[in-house]
Amino acid sequence: MAILVVASGNYGQVLQDIYDITGGDGGLGEGDSGNPAFILITYQQDNSGQFGPDRINDLINNVACNVVVVGDNPTTVVAPYKLCQVRGVTGPLTGGQVNVVYETTQCNGEGYFVFDADGNQIPDPNTAILFHELSHAYHKCIGDYPGPGAAAEFQAITDENGLRAQLGLPLRDPNNNKQAGCTDCGAGGQPPPSNNCLIATAALGSPLAPDVVFLRHIRDSVLRCSKLGCQLFDEFWAQYYTFSPSIADKMAVSSPFRNQITRLAVQPLVQFLTWAYDYVQGGWQADDFAARVESDLRVSAQTLSTDSFTLSSLENLLGKQRNDQYIVWGLLVPLRLYWAAATDLERSPDKGVIGMRVKAQIGDWLSAVPIPAGYRSLSESEIHQDLVLLNERIFTSPELRQVFEKRLWQRLRGCGDN
Ligand SMILES: [Zn+2]
Repeated sequence: MAILVVASGNYGQVLQDIYDITGGDGGLGEGDSGNPAFILITYQQDNSGQFGPDRINDLINNVACNVVVVGDNPTTVVAPYKLCQVRGVTGPLTGGQVNVVYETTQCNGEGYFVFDADGNQIPDPNTAILFHELSHAYHKCIGDYPGPGAAAEFQAITDENGLRAQLGLPLRDPNNNKQAGCTDCGAGGQPPPSNNCLIATAALGSPLAPDVVFLRHIRDSVLRCSKLGCQLFDEFWAQYYTFSPSIADKMAVSSPFRNQITRLAVQPLVQFLTWAYDYVQGGWQADDFAARVESDLRVSAQTLSTDSFTLSSLENLLGKQRNDQYIVWGLLVPLRLYWAAATDLERSPDKGVIGMRVKAQIGDWLSAVPIPAGYRSLSESEIHQDLVLLNERIFTSPELRQVFEKRLWQRLRGCGDN
């Protein structure tokens, strides 16, 4: 039915790899997926009769399921593995969709290897890695996937060899799924690069769940495009990483705990950020913004529990990071605002009041964004350039812009509050 490429992370490399698999077929194109988080791949095949392009054509135009592809980095965790340990992962077929995530950097250029029939190491380039995972996805879609294990690997490696022959690459031993290369992959110790929403992934079950994709989209398309956003995200991540792995681990073994974190924190945060995203995209001047907030709240507030797990239980899980300004701003304030609004909406049936309050709070929250210390080392003209970006993406309301700029210049001239 379709191949959709997630439009964040290393998607440029994914597009390149698909193009290379088709032998550089100019019939490959991009269509409108109806969702900015996904790039729809279209294909009017020219290079027919070759294994790679025929398979891509089947996936795009013939089989009855969608394949969603993400390009990611070596240390991204797709539980229980780091991507550099497995190169790629193909999820189950659910709701007509199969998700594929693969490592697009060749272990940051170090290179990956697999084995030929004589036991020699041979290269494992991106095209082979992606095609291997697409083969698993294809067989899941058409219903002849034998289940995880040697038979499935034999099937995928045999397909992969079809592509390898087309591209003039050495062929693999289909009975040998061993991999080599990427010396430091097992070492660990380093925090993973900031490309994985650990808790959200644990809560929502997959790095490809729509809400996780949305969070990535916020990070890559809203935050990371500006210097302020980048620095802010790095500061936030450094704190977040000190507590998130242990929470994610606990979620993996306890489903009641996973449900609590999902209902208490992940869903409310995603909801709050959805409103904030809507706000900066023009919601601040939309008449129905408050009404939309309230109708969202009515739906999602039903999932809030009345059990003993509260926001202060969550704060306790964060240790001393609960006082960190980035965690407070990025995590705790949104959750407090969300929870107060959900609680008050149940009490006060007055239409619009809570929605208007949330709207004002979102504006205040945005203009109170922490200004990272590293921002001071920018030159005045760099800051002006950054402000142009920020005003396009975040401070789209003139009022917010004014409040933020006043704060910013006060702060940079050393007489501000934070
Ligand atoms: Zn495989």
